Amino acid sequence: MTDLPTLRESLEQHGLMAKKSFGQHFLLDLNITRKIVRLGGPFTGDPVIEVGPGPGGLTRALLESEASHVIAIEKDSRFLELLTELKGPYGDRFEVIEGDALKVDEMQLLTERNLSSGAHIVSNLPYNVGTPLLIKWLTGPWQPKSLTLMFQLEVALRVVAPVGDDDYGRLSVIAQVLCDCDKLMDLPARAFTPPPRVDSAVVRLVPKNERPDAAVIKNLENVTAAAFGQRRKMLRSSLKSLGGEALLAKAEIDATLRAEQVPPDGFLRLAAALT
Ligand code: SAM
Repeated sequence: MTDLPTLRESLEQHGLMAKKSFGQHFLLDLNITRKIVRLGGPFTGDPVIEVGPGPGGLTRALLESEASHVIAIEKDSRFLELLTELKGPYGDRFEVIEGDALKVDEMQLLTERNLSSGAHIVSNLPYNVGTPLLIKWLTGPWQPKSLTLMFQLEVALRVVAPVGDDDYGRLSVIAQVLCDCDKLMDLPARAFTPPPRVDSAVVRLVPKNERPDAAVIKNLENVTAAAFGQRRKMLRSSLKSLGGEALLAKAEIDATLRAEQVPPDGFLRLAAALT
């Protein structure tokens, strides 16, 4: 525990209001942010990268955890001064960086600071860049140890949707081929300041030990884009440009199925057959 001002007091002291263009919906109740950190952890002895700390509610909960370091990446420079105050109680365990998380090279960020590359990502994601950031962390060269992410509910449901479900799609396949995925908790829109139009949920993704090579991951992105781009069509038609029936036979997938009927490991076979 520290004698920091409350999050509302901090926002007031710095004259800060949420900006829509940055997707800002804040969690000002530390009971909620502590719960997210408890469910997403443990982070014992590992660095955590937080995207979009804003006023720092999740950041404070992360700093109270056993994470070795918390590196926060914030695009809105208005919050840097407020966040730097967390260095008072937490010193070198905390660093805030001004930047766009879509462009950050996490591996470089960690090695430059002599931190373990086995870091976790925790974020109450800005809704407008949530999906591209997830795709970056899933398919990029750097592998986080785990990802604990707040999404709008609709996106969270797509990440964890099982085959055959209405929400099952490209994001479900890519996430589930590469990670074990769980929805940890739901949060109503009223938990945020200001409240967004939709409810939210926290998802935890843990990358699987066996990771397909980069070429297969690229193929997985292409094959799912083609299959779910025309999700009502049979695969022999939607995958025609990628090899159609011959590709499906090689991957031992029934050519009359539609995309939503093929489980993640079926798509992985298709991606491997494409190489
Ligand atoms: N973590 C805070 C909380 O829970 O109260 C704020 C969450 S708010 C939904 C999203 C935060 O991400 C905002 O602070 C916003 O400025 C920041 N942000 C938006 N786009 C970003 C980007 N591309 N890179 C880094 N931060 C970004």
